[in-house]
Amino acid sequence: MLHGKDRKVIARFETEPPLGTRILLDDQVYELIEAEPYIRKTDGQPTRLLHWGTACPETGCGHPMRVTSGLMVAELQRRCAAHRLITKPVNGKRCRRVQIRIELP
Ligand SMILES: [Zn+2]
Repeated sequence: MLHGKDRKVIARFETEPPLGTRILLDDQVYELIEAEPYIRKTDGQPTRLLHWGTACPETGCGHPMRVTSGLMVAELQRRCAAHRLITKPVNGKRCRRVQIRIELP
């Protein structure tokens, strides 16, 4: 069932991916560092909460960040708290689709 909203889906894992799995959004790397059980609020089903480690892509920053997602990975935060206030997209590439790659360890 694909709806318009699914355009924002980055990855959809059937089961918990192994630790060390990497999602790359352009050159920004998100590495799976932890996974924990989670009860999904919408339907009460047990699922997994995935914790990804990444670094702020702003030039000269590189602040380490931890972002969470479900097995269905929608939007991932790109920048640290300080740089999130800047509204321009990362590298100013609004018109171009972000390149998504998934690498298993
Ligand atoms: Zn930053």
